[in-house]
Amino acid sequence: MDLTLTAAELSFQKAVRDFLDAELKQEWRGVSDIDNRTQPEIMAQWQAALAAKGWLTAAWPAANGGLGWSPMQHHIFKEECSKARAPKISAMSIGMIGPLICAFGTPAQQEFYLPRIISGADIWCQGFSEPGSGSDLASLKTAARREGDSYIVSGQKIWTTYAHVASRMFCLVRTDPAAARPQAGISMLLIDMALPGITVRPIHTIDGEHHFNEVFFDAVRVPVRCLLGGEHQGWDVARALLAFERSGIADVVATRQLLNDVAQIAAAEPRGNGSLLDDDDFADRLTKLEIALDSLEIFEMRVMEAAERKAGKDYDASLLKILGSELKQKIHMLGIEALGPLASAWPDDDAPAHASGAGAKLVVDALFYRAGSIYGGANEIQRNIVAKSLLKATAGI
Ligand SMILES: Cc1cc2nc3c(=O)[nH]c(=O)nc-3n(C[C@H](O)[C@H](O)[C@H](O)COP(=O)(O)OP(=O)(O)OC[C@H]3O[C@@H](n4cnc5c(N)ncnc54)[C@H](O)[C@@H]3O)c2cc1C
Repeated sequence: MDLTLTAAELSFQKAVRDFLDAELKQEWRGVSDIDNRTQPEIMAQWQAALAAKGWLTAAWPAANGGLGWSPMQHHIFKEECSKARAPKISAMSIGMIGPLICAFGTPAQQEFYLPRIISGADIWCQGFSEPGSGSDLASLKTAARREGDSYIVSGQKIWTTYAHVASRMFCLVRTDPAAARPQAGISMLLIDMALPGITVRPIHTIDGEHHFNEVFFDAVRVPVRCLLGGEHQGWDVARALLAFERSGIADVVATRQLLNDVAQIAAAEPRGNGSLLDDDDFADRLTKLEIALDSLEIFEMRVMEAAERKAGKDYDASLLKILGSELKQKIHMLGIEALGPLASAWPDDDAPAHASGAGAKLVVDALFYRAGSIYGGANEIQRNIVAKSLLKATAGI
């Protein structure tokens, strides 16, 4: 696969760079360096700048502001934003619920929710997992009983990222407990987090941060107009998310930045007359990880290109998820090894120079990213999906 940029792609790359030079404020640069620490207000301001340019919703359908960018254009855009250390944009709002509302929302829902997503007026969280229903999501129990023009929602969600800052949740609920298949009795509700009866309780993670929560619903009255897709059709709506997740799922651009950080840390770590980067064994391991990342990048471009031709495989997203998350974890571990005792420094500590910058960021990120092989569907489950699909195709099993 030829990854050399064409003249048109080079000109697009220049347009992105010019935009970032002009619009990306100095104080916004680097705020997302540590995964999941971006302040919602900065995220909203950056999203507003992108929206004004028309680039925030580039991946949405054309009728809703999409630009029909090629996979390479998406890649260039992400790469340039990453190099400029631009803030993250809200994956749940722009990457997940926005496209879902474009695909399944009524005209009234599109008119109400989409502008609020674009302006950042609403921050969304994803209410799928429950205690006992993670990998086996179809077993979820949070109940929504129809009463007049409302659903009465009772139950519990868990691991809900950003529920403590979100104004709305896209939530899977059980509307038909008697359905023949568990998947058939599920609906998706768009829930206002300010409704009476909702309680959000923090769960703190090993990186010392507050990313996610438990969310309790005690007879919460949700208007029927907040149903997305048909009643009992929530499983199909949720499955459609998979189609939006292919681009960027392997996190190649951020992982490239991480690899550069590890090289920078090693270059600052003295060894004999040189640095750790001159150590043959270390250099060999770093190079092997770099080669794996190059291969992953090409594979990701192939997957995106095949998806555009509607020739993708149903397990492509799973392969990208497994390869991307495990490679990133390996690079984190090499970075921690390079830091040695300095890996115990925390970003706010008075740490030695090369541990307080990229080093301390790497440690916090590495701790959080242990979850990278769990969230978005655990890697064991992704392996099952790949295996089942291949066995079906090759052995008819
Ligand atoms: C940082 C983070 C953020 C998250 N954010 C959200 C969020 O915003 N919204 C949300 O809804 N959820 C969120 N989740 C939840 C996430 O989707 C679940 O943790 C994930 O789906 C796994 O479910 P579980 O935790 O219940 O583990 P379980 O399903 O109980 O799995 C436990 C272990 O058993 C393995 N296992 C289970 N079944 C099988 C099987 N059939 N074959 C082989 N192995 C199996 C799993 O791979 C895993 O290793 C988040 C999780 C994390 C860690």
